Parts: sequence; structure tokens; C-alpha cells
Amino acid sequence: MRRVYADYNATTPLNPAVLEAMLPYLGQKFGNASSIHIFGRDARAAIDDARVRIAKLLGAQEGEIIFTGSGTEADNNAIFGIRPGHIITSSIEHHAVLHACQQRPDVTYLPVSGDCLVDPADLRKAIRKDTVLVSIMWANNETGTIQPISELAAVCREHGIPFHTDAVQAFGKLPVTVADVDLLTLSAHKFYGPKGVGVLYVRRGMKLTPLLYGGSHESDRRAGTENVAGIVGLAKAAELPAVDFVELTEKLAAGIVEAIPGAHRNGHPRQRVSNTVNFSFDGCRFEGLLLGLDLEGVAVSSGSACAVGSLEPSHVLLAMGVSRERARAAVRFSFGAGTTLADVDYILSVLPRVIHRLRTLS
Ligand code: PLP
Repeated sequence: MRRVYADYNATTPLNPAVLEAMLPYLGQKFGNASSIHIFGRDARAAIDDARVRIAKLLGAQEGEIIFTGSGTEADNNAIFGIRPGHIITSSIEHHAVLHACQQRPDVTYLPVSGDCLVDPADLRKAIRKDTVLVSIMWANNETGTIQPISELAAVCREHGIPFHTDAVQAFGKLPVTVADVDLLTLSAHKFYGPKGVGVLYVRRGMKLTPLLYGGSHESDRRAGTENVAGIVGLAKAAELPAVDFVELTEKLAAGIVEAIPGAHRNGHPRQRVSNTVNFSFDGCRFEGLLLGLDLEGVAVSSGSACAVGSLEPSHVLLAMGVSRERARAAVRFSFGAGTTLADVDYILSVLPRVIHRLRTLS
């Protein structure tokens, strides 16, 4: 059976050049970057080099880059590392931000429009004298919708409030720099790098308390022996050229609309990362859709992979005003480096059958 992986927003395969760059650090260059001898110095040099390259790509300075153990950790550090006070975020954030915010005592969750956009005017209204952080994601992982980051950041700047963005789903798909933001999160496994390594950019002069205490790694900002191979892989992956998938995703979307009645597209149709489309299918449930497509060899997701196992409808779609029923019938298709036109044709050849079967059963 043909196998089509259309879940690149959940994770991406390691790019072969990235693996090659990492291999020495999983083998003979195994040193601890804190050691003074040559093994340690080799590891330290590799981390320093990776930091310079990431900083350059983001338009940052080396000292502003902290390597973390994941995107989740970077998000948590931004949210828990800021001083006590009021936080503003959006209702469509990834759980790495949302669940962290739920642990803070005073948080405002901004609404989004029907097409998944945060309105800068809503942000302006929510700002208070004691607001200490605003955290709004760059691109949404479920719908792909791109937020007006520059405008949102400008509102924060006007009020002197630090602005964090979770750029996990934007980096590698869009030009991402730190020009407008004070804090920014990346995760390597979303752009063909290894799992278990991320970045938190922290603008110079910002005071942020560490999440982890121990050794003096990462200039006392993130304790723990560095994942040298992971960091090397992250830097290599970050330099891969972005690929545009708009033609493939638009072909999929047009094919779905043409062949399947009762299909509803979720998220902004144009202001989106080019690899992501999200549809709800009347009369279906996502568990049936995912299973039915899996049986046909097509791997998709209902939204955030981190919410898998939960039969709750997507909080993102609910925040957009999508009904519970429609939110429970949503599938996210996310394309990546291996996706071909033949894959899109294959999805379009099996999807109507899967949906017909589900509708007849219900
Ligand atoms: N933020 C967003 C938008 C994500 O999509 C993800 C992963 O799905 C994360 C954060 C978490 O990153 P990590 O898997 O590195 O912990």
C-alpha cells in the first residue's frame, strides 16, 4: 500500500545532511562541552559555532541565544521566567504556552476571529499597568494561520511590555527574525532537525529567571549538559532552504471542495503557512477520519499531536467559533519535504471513500 505522511506539523524526518553533521558528535566527538581537555573543547567549539549560525539567521546576537531541551521548555521559560504580574496570551496557543499560562495566577486569553486571527486592537484593550508579558504564536500549528506579529509587537513596544512569540511552526516555513520581538521559541524537529532540542531567544538586557538550576551552562541561564549533537543538528537544519507548498495544498483544498460535499475549510485561506490545510467534514468524527485514512496509508492529524489521545474537540477551532460538532470533525493535512503531487492525488483518491464510509455508518 502507498504510504503518505501528511503530518509534518507534528514532526519532520531528519534531513540527511543534518544527520551527517550530527554523527561525529554521537561518535568520536562525544566530549562534554564543559570539560577543559580537547574532547570538551571540540564539543564547546561546535556549540559556539551553532550559536553564531542561529544568531545570524535570526538577526540576533550570540549572547541572546539559549539552547533548550525542546520548544516546550523554551515556551515555559518565557512564561515562568518573567517577573510576577499579568500575562496576555491568545486562546489558540499550543498547549506548551496555554498550559504553562494556566499555572500563572493572572492571565488574559485574547479571542480570535473566525479565520483564526488575533486582532491587535484586542491586545491594546487587554493591556494593563501590571502586564509583564504578551505571548502570541507566530503561526498556528492546527490551521497554519499567521498572526500579525509586527503589529502585535508594535502595540507591546508602545507600552514597554516584553513580547514573546512561539515561532515553532513559523520557522523554516516563513522568514523569521527577532527584529520585532523580545523572546522567541524554536524547536528543531519541526524543521528537519532532531527531536529534543530548541532555542529560546532572549533580547539582551531582558531579565528572565531560569527554569532549571544546576551547572553554569548556557551562561547560567539553562543548566544541564548540552545536547551537542542536537544543537549541531538544529543549526544545520535551520539553514535548509524553505520550500513552498502552496500549489500542493491549494490543489488538495480545491480537490476536497470539488469532491466532498459538507467539507469546510478552517483557518485563514491565504494568511497561512503554505504547508497546512485544515478541513472539517460534516457527519464525521476525527477519530474515524484519522483511523480510516491511516488504513489507507495516509497519516494525518486532528490538530496538535500533543493532544492525541484526547477526544476533546480542538481548543483552536472552538476559539474560532467553530461548533463543537464541526470541531470534532476536523483533520489537519500538513505537507513537507517529501510530499509530491502524486501524494496529493492519492489523498484525493481515498478521502471521499473514507468519508462516505463514515457517513454511512453514523
Ligand atoms: N509550539 C508549537 C506551536 C508546536 O507546534 C509545538 C509542537 O507541536 C511546540 C510548541 C512544542 O515543541 P516541542 O515538541 O519541541 O516541545
